[in-house]
Amino acid sequence: MLLHGETTSREIVESVATAIASRDHTIGGYLSSDFERAVVEAEAADLSLPLGGIPIALKDNINAEDHPCSCGSRFLKNGYLAPYDATVSSMLKRSGAVLFGRTNLDEFAMGSSTENSAFKKTRNPHDLGRIPGGSSGGSAAVVAADMAVAALGSDTGGSIRQPASHCGVVGLKPSYGRVSRYGLVAFASSLDQIGPLTKTVEDAALVLQAIAGNDPKDSTCLPSEVPDYASSLEGGIRGMKIGLPREFFEDQALDSGVRAKVEEALAKLEAEGAELVELSLPSTAYAVAVYYILAPAEASSNLSRYDGVRYGKRVDEGDGIISMYRDSRAKGFGSEVKRRIILGTYVLSSGYSGKYYLKAQKARTLIQQEYQEAFKKVDVIIGPVSPTPARKIGEHAESPLEDYLADVYTISANLAGICGLSVPCGTVERQGSHLPVGLQILGPHLAESKILQAGRAWEQVRDSGSPAPS
Ligand code: GLN
Repeated sequence: MLLHGETTSREIVESVATAIASRDHTIGGYLSSDFERAVVEAEAADLSLPLGGIPIALKDNINAEDHPCSCGSRFLKNGYLAPYDATVSSMLKRSGAVLFGRTNLDEFAMGSSTENSAFKKTRNPHDLGRIPGGSSGGSAAVVAADMAVAALGSDTGGSIRQPASHCGVVGLKPSYGRVSRYGLVAFASSLDQIGPLTKTVEDAALVLQAIAGNDPKDSTCLPSEVPDYASSLEGGIRGMKIGLPREFFEDQALDSGVRAKVEEALAKLEAEGAELVELSLPSTAYAVAVYYILAPAEASSNLSRYDGVRYGKRVDEGDGIISMYRDSRAKGFGSEVKRRIILGTYVLSSGYSGKYYLKAQKARTLIQQEYQEAFKKVDVIIGPVSPTPARKIGEHAESPLEDYLADVYTISANLAGICGLSVPCGTVERQGSHLPVGLQILGPHLAESKILQAGRAWEQVRDSGSPAPS
């Protein structure tokens, strides 16, 4: 419509602003937005660029120069402005996107519900009494509620895919090293990746195209050439081998309604000519334990930079520097972040690192190898994203472990460094609400084209409305 002159980028930005004004007081997806600047940028946008004039929201842990970057934490509240652009921010700008708003998240991206934000809870647009998922819950909710055309999130153990699944949007976690992490506030550096949350698979491909590629500022970013993601998008599903991990489908925790939706989708894909191949990923049983040792270990190290000296909050009662460190960290961090720092410090301590941290590293290698073997037999692996639809707000307030266990289908992709996509596959009814379910499509390292192709094929089958074959 933009290219045909049927709308203007100013109109698009204004429609987003209007949607936020009418809806965000109930949903709470944004921590901040700046439309004065956005309108000026929209009017100046070069429409010949791939994302020319398109407003894109950023999770509030991705730096964009002169925008806030609170990470959902009291530590960085009150006027902290990012002094520089993350590589993804400068790449989006170069593609013509308008960066106007900052979305809510679990503090420092730790969580699966966005309830761990120090500022507010974001609500699921499909049922305001439920979580949007997390940690990129704000990004998923604003896309679902038409309050942004697209958003970026970060995924360390599922934080793009799981909220996408809960909010009924598309979420893509790129392979480790595909997208630069420079300027993403680090949670667990060996697992973090930035990726898009969008309405459609095609949009996810467009945004990925804009942000993927090598970056001399991130030594873990890969020099491999970035393919043209749009060119293979319509390749269809015929002949594709889809792996179904037994451990995902036999899981006792998998909700029967969610299972039925995923199985229905698989039956339809099979009817379109995909080949379903049962396989086994036995180390799935250890993934949660491995992740909740490695991620907190890395987090405890990354978060040592918040000491009251260099960034954000300082609490100084005049009792010396050690008290200043301690009081700043005691008041700056919320309880989930503290829990992870304590856990991470413990598993890295000299007496225990062999027993926990090194052991977990070895198990991580096994998980990686299992996926490599599996992808010798199949093109993609499909299963659920989350064992249940979005739960109620406050339901796990006393038992964080319940949320950790629900990460079982997403975290292996981060441990193995592979890519994963969540695409909506219908809804299940709970107490009168129709709650979205996501179909997870995992692919080998750097096989984003494949999972996008499979995701696009699924959208077409889904939207054609043909009944599942019996
Ligand atoms: N839910 C996971 C956690 O709490 C994943 C978070 C993420 O991917 N940032 O750590």
